[in-house]
Amino acid sequence: MVILKSRDEIATMRRAGRVVARTLERVVAAVKPGVSLRELDELGARTITGEGATASFLGYHPRFAPTPFPASLCLSVNEVIVHGIPDRTRLRAGDVLSIDCGAVVDGYHADAAVTVPVGEIDPAAARLLEATERALWAGIAQARVGNRLSDISHAVGQVAHASGYGILADHGGHGVGQLLHEDPSVDNDGRPGRGPRLRDGLVLAIEPMFVDGDPAYLHRPDGWAVATRDGSRSAHFEHTVAVLDDGPEPLTVP
Ligand code: MG
Ligand code: MG
Repeated sequence: MVILKSRDEIATMRRAGRVVARTLERVVAAVKPGVSLRELDELGARTITGEGATASFLGYHPRFAPTPFPASLCLSVNEVIVHGIPDRTRLRAGDVLSIDCGAVVDGYHADAAVTVPVGEIDPAAARLLEATERALWAGIAQARVGNRLSDISHAVGQVAHASGYGILADHGGHGVGQLLHEDPSVDNDGRPGRGPRLRDGLVLAIEPMFVDGDPAYLHRPDGWAVATRDGSRSAHFEHTVAVLDDGPEPLTVP
C-alpha cells in the first residue's frame, strides 16, 4: 500500500534527511587509504546519535537476511554493490566505496547513499561513479506529479544503457516513511508510462546501482553483502525525494 505523506510528515522527513546528509558529509570527509570500514561506521553512528536521531539500519532485520544488520552504515567496496557490513578491512588507494546511510527522526526515516573514490582512482572507475550519480538525478527529474512510476525507472535505466553499464537486478528504490522500505518498489530500468501515477506527498528513495561489467551477483557468506560474481566494480547513489505539486524535492540534502 502506498502511503502519501502530509506536509507535517514531510517536514519531519526533511529533518531526518538533513541528518543523513550531514552524516554522509562527515564520513566522506574521513575516507582515505588506511582507514577501516569499522572506523567509518563508528563515525557515522556517533554523528547520527549526536544529531538526536537513530540509525535506520542498526538491527534492521528484513525477511531476506539471516541476521539483524549489525552496523549503522552499509559500506560496500569495489565489487560489493550494496549491504556491505563494516569490518576491519582497511581502504586502499584506488578503491571505490559506497556509503549508505539511514536515519530516523520522530518515527520517520530518510535514506541516501553516495559512492566515493579512495585516493586516486582510474578513469574507468571515475566514469562509473559519474554516470551512476547522473542517473540518480535523471530519475529525480522524473519524480513529478502526473508522471508514472516507471518514468523514473526508464530515466535511470537509459543512463546505464547509454553508458554501457549493467544494472543490478532484483534491487531498486522504494517508498520511505514510517518504515524504511514501503511501497512502491522503484525499478532501475523499464519502459516509461507504466505503473501508478505519481501524486503529491509520495516520498521515494531513488537508488541506481550500476556495474562496470556483468551485473550477475551473489550474496557473501554473511548473508547481507551483494557482490558481483566476476569482481566487476559497482556504484550506488541514492536520495530520498518528496514528490510535490511544485516539483521533486530531495530531502537528503544539507
Ligand atoms: Mg539506502
Ligand atoms: Mg534505499
